[in-house]
Amino acid sequence: MTDQRIHNFNAGPAAIPLKVLKEIQGSFLNFNGSGMSITEISHRSSYFDDVINDAVARVKRLLNLDDRFHVLFLQGGASLQFAMIPMNFLGEGDTADYVNTGTWSTKAIKEAQVQKKNHCVVASSEDKDFSYIPTDIQFSTDARYVHLTSNNTIKGTQFHDFPDTNGIPIVCDMSSDIFSRALDMEKFGMIYAGAQKNLGPSGTCMVILRQDMLDRANENLPTMLKYSTHASKNSMYNTPPCFGIYTIDLVLKWIEEMGGLEKMETYNMEKAALLYDFMEAGSFYRPTAEKSSKSLMNVTFRLPTVELEKQFIAQATQKGFGGLKGHRSVGGCRASIYNAATKESITALVQFMASFEKENK
Ligand code: PMP
Repeated sequence: MTDQRIHNFNAGPAAIPLKVLKEIQGSFLNFNGSGMSITEISHRSSYFDDVINDAVARVKRLLNLDDRFHVLFLQGGASLQFAMIPMNFLGEGDTADYVNTGTWSTKAIKEAQVQKKNHCVVASSEDKDFSYIPTDIQFSTDARYVHLTSNNTIKGTQFHDFPDTNGIPIVCDMSSDIFSRALDMEKFGMIYAGAQKNLGPSGTCMVILRQDMLDRANENLPTMLKYSTHASKNSMYNTPPCFGIYTIDLVLKWIEEMGGLEKMETYNMEKAALLYDFMEAGSFYRPTAEKSSKSLMNVTFRLPTVELEKQFIAQATQKGFGGLKGHRSVGGCRASIYNAATKESITALVQFMASFEKENK
């Protein structure tokens, strides 16, 4: 009943390409002639081997990764990565640089703090309520890694370029913009992303990790919390999130069919421009991010009053636009327009916004 589907602007879990959902639906009861659903197949079977290996190969193709990189599918969300990163990479005397650009960076920093790991917050945009991305950052010369959040889901800001870090590997939380644009992996020692925004369903976290990071990782840790455990077993030390990995594989296939990351980036820029250009042409809707830092993925905005915001969200919901409420910690409105959000949905949203403005100005 696809005609009853809404325009989904949820922040995560979020829209998945309709083509992928239909493909799942079509093969749900009998995966690849196995006579079983993908949710019933053994992760030790050749059926599942094909799925996970295909997903890894697609990630490597999309990002042009060479053999130094491991592609892992873990559980515990991006939030567990906040803890695993300092646990694995900071030994005695090591230190790390963190850039604080919002709620999720703050949480990542807290996990280094609770483990009493040496770390330094080298830049923060908290002074202006995280409405911008800091520039001209002075990084340490001896940090093991620099931690960044590439896209700030709640505050609607995004790194448009990644800073020069004196050759120190960047460890980056890309939960809300992975695969939304072309990426040169040379600067990155690790990237990670909870799947539920741009990759598939919740319950899987993708980790892309460079071998030299692993070479110096702490080994004296609980088995499940060591990257080496998962890297040496192709993410199958224990039962992996099979359905999540299967869906991610289909989403990656869809991205490849769309033309890859450059094409995805162009499409995402066009989509975001529809919303920002419309808002910036008037004064009724006010984007919360500074212009130079605005996110192509999470468009956060305010209306003239909180009362109007409530009415806007209620009327939008009635008309089939979902997920426009801002994060509960900040209020306001947010349209999350990840890869799977279509231009048609955004055009329809802009039309609705224009008519709401006319009626309530
Ligand atoms: N980082 C970012 C940028 C996020 O947006 C989120 C979730 N919204 C997280 C981390 C936390 O992810 P998870 O729920 O998978 O732990």
